[in-house]
Amino acid sequence: MACTRLILLGPPGSGKGTQAKRLSDTLKTAHVSTGDMLREARAAGTELGRKAGECMDAGRLVPDAVVIGLVAERLRKPDCEPGFVLDGFPRTVAQAEALDAAGVGVNCVIDIDVADEEVVSRLGGRRSCPQCGRVYHVEVAPSKDGTHCDGCGAGLVTRPDDVEDTIRARLKVYHEKTAPLAAYYRGKGLLKTVESVGGPDAVFGKVLNAIGAR
Ligand code: AMP
Repeated sequence: MACTRLILLGPPGSGKGTQAKRLSDTLKTAHVSTGDMLREARAAGTELGRKAGECMDAGRLVPDAVVIGLVAERLRKPDCEPGFVLDGFPRTVAQAEALDAAGVGVNCVIDIDVADEEVVSRLGGRRSCPQCGRVYHVEVAPSKDGTHCDGCGAGLVTRPDDVEDTIRARLKVYHEKTAPLAAYYRGKGLLKTVESVGGPDAVFGKVLNAIGAR
């Protein structure tokens, strides 16, 4: 069966957002990022967004029930029919079990592997465009003038959760709550691991190989 219903796992800073976007563009499937959905809810000023924002700024996970509800609604939209790339979900075994219980079949899980210190250096230098979502890095991938988005010209910002203390808190949560998902999906015979080294193009090549798309 072709891999069109995918999960990308990996710590914050593994590049899974970038890979998920490229993968969904290539496979012509939906890119479902819970982090983006929660940031949108926050920007829209909803009650859910406000509560989620408090968790996000502290590097904690948003409660399972909230995120599961959001994803269930999102996966019912017509653009998910040809398939989807789940980015940032599931993040706990309870979320994975909720997907299974809802009968959402997944046919491939890619785990993007990267060392903790590399995560701290990557995320500490990350700058994001608040308008179009493009992501830069102060050293590795700066925008042309270093402060504005090359795509839409908006001023670049550091995400509040990309400061070092919060990055370390997110990594701790990742190891405790999310890393066990690798064993969960390995047990189902779905897991493929890809090392996040060599830059986004090299990693994308490895991701395509892992899903048998080239
Ligand atoms: P991300 O953009 O994927 O790094 O997510 C940013 C933040 O949103 C995380 O640190 C969590 O606070 C929250 N978040 C995103 N996805 C989930 C999820 N599946 N479960 C709980 N919290 C989430």
